[in-house]
Amino acid sequence: MTKNTRPAPSARTRIRRIAEKANYETQMLYDIIDEAYVCNLAFNAGDSTHCIPTACWRDGHYLYIHGSNGSRMVKALLSGIQTSIAITHIDALVLAKSAFNHSMNYRSAVIYGTFEAVEGDEHKAAALDVFMDKIAAGRKHQARPGNAQELAATTVLRISLDEAAAKVSNKQAPEDNVEDLDLPVWAGLLPMKVTRGEPIAANNVAVSTPDYVRDWAE
Ligand SMILES: Cc1cc2nc3c(=O)[nH]c(=O)nc-3n(C[C@H](O)[C@H](O)[C@H](O)COP(=O)(O)OP(=O)(O)OC[C@H]3O[C@@H](n4cnc5c(N)ncnc54)[C@H](O)[C@@H]3O)c2cc1C
Repeated sequence: MTKNTRPAPSARTRIRRIAEKANYETQMLYDIIDEAYVCNLAFNAGDSTHCIPTACWRDGHYLYIHGSNGSRMVKALLSGIQTSIAITHIDALVLAKSAFNHSMNYRSAVIYGTFEAVEGDEHKAAALDVFMDKIAAGRKHQARPGNAQELAATTVLRISLDEAAAKVSNKQAPEDNVEDLDLPVWAGLLPMKVTRGEPIAANNVAVSTPDYVRDWAE
C-alpha cells in the first residue's frame, strides 16, 4: 500500500480501480520512466485511434520522444492533439490457488497531455544527448553527434509530466480465498526482470572497450 503525499494531479489521472495501488509521487513516476526504454503512446489520427510503441527518455519534468518528420505519429502529435502514454514494468507473476486470483506485480505510469516540439538544432541535439546517455552513460561523448541533415530529418518532442500517475502492485503473496487455501496447488510469486546479455561487438578495430560495455552484462 502506498502513502501518497500528493493528490492525483487531475480527475482523469485519479486511480479509482484498486485505489490503494495509486502512487502520485513524482519520484515514483521518474523512476518508472527512467527504467523504461519504450513507452506506448495513444492518439487519434485519421479515422482511428492508434497505440504506438516508441523510445522515450526523461529530462527534468518532461518525457521526450523522437521520430522521423514523416511519421504519422510525429505529424499527429505536432498538431497539438491530446495523447495518453503508458509505461509498464512487470516484477512478478502472482500465482494463486484459483485461476481468478492470479495477478501480476508491476509498476506502471500513465501520462496525459499534449506534446510540443523541441525547437532549434542546439536544443534538439542537447535532448538527443540525454537519450544517448540513457542508452549508456558517457556514450554522448563518443558517438558522432547528429549532423545538420540528420537533425533536420528528426523531430524531437516533449510532454510535461504534470498530468501523470503511477500504479504499483507489489504483493508479497497471492491473495487467495480462505476456502482455497488448502487446495493442493502451488501458489506464490514468479519474479521476473529484464536482464542484460553479453555484448556482441561489431567492427571495433583499434577501439578500446568502454566501461559501460565491459560492465553491461549481469
Ligand atoms: C502488468 C499489468 C497487468 C494488468 N492486468 C490487468 C488485467 O488483466 N485486467 C484488468 O482489468 N486490469 C489489469 N491491470 C490494471 C489496469 O492497468 C487498470 O488499472 C485497471 O484495469 C483499471 O482500469 P480503469 O480504466 O477501470 O481504471 P481507473 O482507476 O478508472 O483509471 C483512472 C485513471 O487512473 C490511471 N490509471 C489506471 N490504471 C493505471 C495503471 N495501471 N497505471 C497508471 N495509471 C493508471 C489513469 O490515469 C486512468 O485514466 C493491469 C495492469 C498492469 C500494469
